[in-house]
Amino acid sequence: MILKLVLNNYIKCMQKMRRSRNKKPKTRSQMMQAVHSKDTGPELIVRKALFGRGFRYRLHQRGLPGTPDIFVLKYNVVIFINGCFWHQHGCKFTTRPKSNSDFWNNKFANNSVRDIKTHWKLSVEGYRVATVWECSLMNKETQCRTMELLMSFIKSDEESTEI
Ligand SMILES: [Zn+2]
Repeated sequence: MILKLVLNNYIKCMQKMRRSRNKKPKTRSQMMQAVHSKDTGPELIVRKALFGRGFRYRLHQRGLPGTPDIFVLKYNVVIFINGCFWHQHGCKFTTRPKSNSDFWNNKFANNSVRDIKTHWKLSVEGYRVATVWECSLMNKETQCRTMELLMSFIKSDEESTEI
């Protein structure tokens, strides 16, 4: 039943994307620019999609461990949108700079430890934690899937998820 609902929403989302794509054909370079511009950044993609589906949230809530990017109060869910480079996702976008390797290795190790600590603190305080990797929002097709998974997590009673 839930799966059917998720699938239907996914199809609707894809149809909408296709329609808007037909309206405004974009070149590859325009699309690449869009990924890096402020107004279409990964966090904004998630915010817009959640808002459009009726979820209300707070941004960068101070006082919560790790100052989560998005806090969905009603469902007690915090969402982190993680850059694959900074948080060393391990996907194909996870590169390591060749120079200053000690500095970078140190930095990435610190980031990982901080992420684990933050996650643990939030769980102890009773928050449910969603980690959304930037690469799962790279193109329109994966965006739809990511948002469906995120929204079904928010409405579930699972403690954490990684998308
Ligand atoms: Zn990634």
